This record gives sequence, structure tokens and C-alpha cells, in this order.
Amino acid sequence: MKKLELHWKILIGMLLGLVFGYAMTQIGGGKDFVNDWIKPFGTIFVKLLKLIAIPLILASLIKGISDLKDISKFRNIGLRTIGIYICTTIVAIVLGLVLVNVLQPGNGISEETIAKLTDTYANDSGVTSKLEEAVRQKSAGPLQFLEDMVPENALAAMTNNKLMLQVIFFTIFMGISMLLIGEKKAKPLKKFFDSLNYVVLKMVDLIMLSAPYAVFALLATVVVSSGDPELLLALLKYAGVVVLGLFLMIVFYCTVVSVFTKKNPFWFLKQISPAQLLAFSTSSSAATLPVTMERVEEHIGVDKEVSSFVLPVGATINMDGTSLYQGVAAVFISQALGFDLTLSDQLIIVLTALLASIGTAAVPGAGMVMLVIVLEAVGFPAEKLAIGLALIFAVDRPLDMCRTVVNITGDATVSMVVAKSVGKLGKPHVENWDDNYDAVK
Ligand code: ASP
Repeated sequence: MKKLELHWKILIGMLLGLVFGYAMTQIGGGKDFVNDWIKPFGTIFVKLLKLIAIPLILASLIKGISDLKDISKFRNIGLRTIGIYICTTIVAIVLGLVLVNVLQPGNGISEETIAKLTDTYANDSGVTSKLEEAVRQKSAGPLQFLEDMVPENALAAMTNNKLMLQVIFFTIFMGISMLLIGEKKAKPLKKFFDSLNYVVLKMVDLIMLSAPYAVFALLATVVVSSGDPELLLALLKYAGVVVLGLFLMIVFYCTVVSVFTKKNPFWFLKQISPAQLLAFSTSSSAATLPVTMERVEEHIGVDKEVSSFVLPVGATINMDGTSLYQGVAAVFISQALGFDLTLSDQLIIVLTALLASIGTAAVPGAGMVMLVIVLEAVGFPAEKLAIGLALIFAVDRPLDMCRTVVNITGDATVSMVVAKSVGKLGKPHVENWDDNYDAVK
């Protein structure tokens, strides 16, 4: 019998997780059972993915740069990547703003629902912690992000997943210096990182063996921790606008793939689907990064010289789904609370959401923190911020899951476009976890 493809296995795991989670909410003690006995397996899986993120960035980026053999090629790739990232993010924000202005989801929401949402969530620790985090982020100066990108201790940066951009900075610096000392002198180091790169990619294959079970655990946990279904329903129109926007972004990426790389968009979606399903299940682009890299390199055929730069940078600074959501959420909250937004306010949203997407951490719920900064930029009254966030908090997790899918699909699309434009989009070369198993078992 033909083996079931990975994305089907993951999808079945997800569906079973949803059904199981729902069943557990109907049984007394079911929620505790999931938290005690099921949740840890999802957490372990996410930890395993995060565990290999830094070694993978280090090994693959050094391999990528040293294979380029030429600094000007790297500059070329770098500038194109940043330029295209900015364009796709602007498309996402403008799309979100058009949809929310046309469909007006905030105008139909009753006073009673607003009061209920405010009572339930305005003092919830989920909302207050996001506000506190936003205050911390906002106190930074305009060039703080540049300052933050440069580590003062390379090893310290490597011990903290939140400092991924610092690791990328150090690695690029090291890769370029390796090119400058010449091939002969750099050879031992290059061989070391090449080998490390193979090892880490094999670790991704091994971790992925447990993906169908892990997504079961992750989704069952999400279901048992979700809020009151009645409140979720009240926000259906708002959630629908965000999901419609995210769906249109996927259509946009498919068009870009088809026009700029001449590849079949359905083939592209199929190859990237395991990473999308994991992004959905984990709500974290950073945790999904190793899988995104493996799919894009081995299953789509993007050369490591491109993917090793485009994808880690994208995971940290390019979040199209998040910025679309920030545009929609900011206008929705304003509509619901009767705060008028002029055209210039909406332009400010475009700018701040663009910057916010760069500053948003690639972890669950980070988009909501930056939303506070977007709201403040258009002069939203500070005393109403908690109420604003309370309005959208109930549906934030499912929307976070969806926007993370778009975030990583955007990164994969841009890596294909950049690769094609510099002649580095080759043939897929899939490696399996057991290719060498017979020789060592
Ligand atoms: N969870 C998102 C990501 O990791 C960020 C966000 O929108 O909250 O890409």
C-alpha cells in the first residue's frame, strides 16, 4: 500500500486532536486530563523544534554564504529579500484595511456584547500582560531595533531563541569574513558547518516523525483552553474578515509563485503544507522555521544560498498575516467603540503595522502586543486600550494560528521568487530520515 503522505498524517492528527479536545470539554475532569497527560507531548515537540533552530541558522547560513563565493551576490540577495518583504507586507496591510472598511465588522456589534467582552477580558491576565509588554516595547527609541540586532556576546545570543536576529547578524558577519580569508584557509571551518548542517537537517526529519502525534496534543490543548463559545460566535464577523483576508493573501502568494517562478501554485502549496500545518498547530513561525527550511530546500528546490538567509530573516521580520490582522483589528476596535479613523489615520496604520511586523516576535500572541502600538499611533485613548484588546481576545488564538500560516507561506514564497531571480531555484532533492539507516542499524 502506498504510504500516506506526511501532510495527510498531520491533518488526521489535527482532526483527531480537535475531536478529542472537544470530547474532553464535555467530560468532568477532561480539561485537567488533557493538561496533565496530553499537553506535555505538544510542548516537548515545540521544544525540540526550537532546540535545533539556532544550530540550523548557524550551519545553514554559513554554508549558504560560503557557497556563494562572492560578497556581491550576497548583497544582491539581501537587498532583493528586504525589498520584496516590504512589498508583500504593504499588500497585506492594504488588503486588510480595504476589507475591514468595506465589510465594517465593528458596526454590527451590540453594546451588550461589548459590555460582556469587556467584563470577561479587560482585567484578564492575558490582556494586561500584553499591555505591559507593549509599554516595555514602546519605551524604545526609533533605532533601538538596529541596536538590538548587534550582540555584544555571540555565545549569549546563541543561548536565547528570542535573539535570533543577533545570531543571524553574527553568522552573516562570520560568513563574509570566511569569504574574505579565501577558500583554502576557510576550508576546515566550512567542512565543519557543512557537516553540522546535514546533521541538523536529519534532526528535523527525525522530529517530524512525531509531528502527527504532536499536533494531536497541541490541538486538543487549544480546544480545552478556548473561551466561552458564545463570545466566540459574537466575534464571528470580525474573525471572518481576518480569515478572508488571510485566505486572499494565500491566493496572492499562489499568483506570485505562478507569475514569477512559473511553478504550479498547487504543487507549491502541497510541498509547503506540512510546515503550514505545523505553523497552524504551534502558532509560532520561529518554532516552524526548521521545517519551513527543510521543505523549501529539499521539497521545492530553493538553493541553500538563498533559503538560509531569506527564511530565518523572514521568520523574524516578515509577518504578512500578522500585519493584515493588525490593520483589521485596529479598525474593528475603532468601529466598535465609535472612535473615528480618518484616511491619514489609516495611512499611519499602514506604516506602523509595517514596522510592527518587523518588531513582532515569532511566537504565539506577539501580534496582539504590537497591535497596542498600532492603536496608540492613531491616537486611540489609552484608557480604552484594555477594552479594545478585550474585544478581540476571545478569538485571538485561532486567528493567531491562521496568521502564522500566512506568515510562513509568505516567507516561502519570497524565498522562491528571490531564488528564481538569481538563478538558484533548482530541482527538489528529498532526503528521508532513514536513507542511511541500513548501514548503521
Ligand atoms: N504567532 C505569530 C508568528 O509566530 C505572530 C503573531 O501574529 O502573533 O508568526
